Amino acid sequence: MDEIHIDNLKIFAHHGVFQHENINGQYFYVNAVLYTDTENAGISDNLELSTDYGSVCCLIRDIMTGNTFRLIETVAERIATGILEKFPLVEGVEIEVRKPEAPMEMDFESVSVKIRRSWHNTVIAFGSNLGDRKAYIENAIREIEENSAIKDIKVSSFIETEPYGYTEQPDFLNGALICRTYLSPEKLLEFLHTIENEAGRTRKVHWGARTLDLDIIFYDDKIIDTPALTVPHIDMCNRYFVLKPVSEIVPYYRHPVFNMTVIQLLERLERND
Ligand code: ADP
Ligand code: MG
Repeated sequence: MDEIHIDNLKIFAHHGVFQHENINGQYFYVNAVLYTDTENAGISDNLELSTDYGSVCCLIRDIMTGNTFRLIETVAERIATGILEKFPLVEGVEIEVRKPEAPMEMDFESVSVKIRRSWHNTVIAFGSNLGDRKAYIENAIREIEENSAIKDIKVSSFIETEPYGYTEQPDFLNGALICRTYLSPEKLLEFLHTIENEAGRTRKVHWGARTLDLDIIFYDDKIIDTPALTVPHIDMCNRYFVLKPVSEIVPYYRHPVFNMTVIQLLERLERND
């Protein structure tokens, strides 16, 4: 990916954990790397096809002077996500916030925080088999759409399926969506859990009836195995109600462990049934 660099943008601001820092202020320096494809702009010599670094510098200044944060971690986070939200051609950013006048009784050049944030592709499956199933799902999609950390959402059609695992329960309404997000997989799962909880979801019977279930199916081609999160979803290859709607929106998404596309996984499942 091509890069646009902004080096040592000098900004007077009031961030810090000490009150005197918030009152008196000090100079901060920001380094930014914007990861973006510059080929179209380079060939056409047209600024509209690139990202205007002047506008990016203004946004950094506005975030730094319009807020008083305790931590330069927060300053960096806000700048990174602000740039990703406002400049659609920027795929990722690296932001370094330096604080050469940090109040410390030692000899040092500067302290700094450097973070990387970028847009990731993620596939989310949803299901409901209690109450107004369609309303729970449509409300969840609306909440996902309204989150500024998520964009480019494409939703499958909804399908009616028989319960899986514990079969003594009502039929499900299932579907899936693909979107882009700069949330980490862990933060995305947290967000999905808050939507589930707002839908009155209780976790009593494993695989039991639920107002809303939101599962992360894919996150780029990342493989995650932690107690809280398995990605790709551990049982997706055996679930028609996941593979069918996912195949409708991203048939050629490739499972990073089995090295098969969604459509191949679906065909395999249908053959075995
Ligand atoms: P299921 O979706 O299998 O019916 P639950 O929705 O009750 O089960 O989820 C139980 C736990 O599974 C969640 O609290 C979450 O921590 C964990 N989990 C592991 N991997 C994933 C994933 N890819 N997507 C969603 N939850 C996951
Ligand atoms: Mg779940």
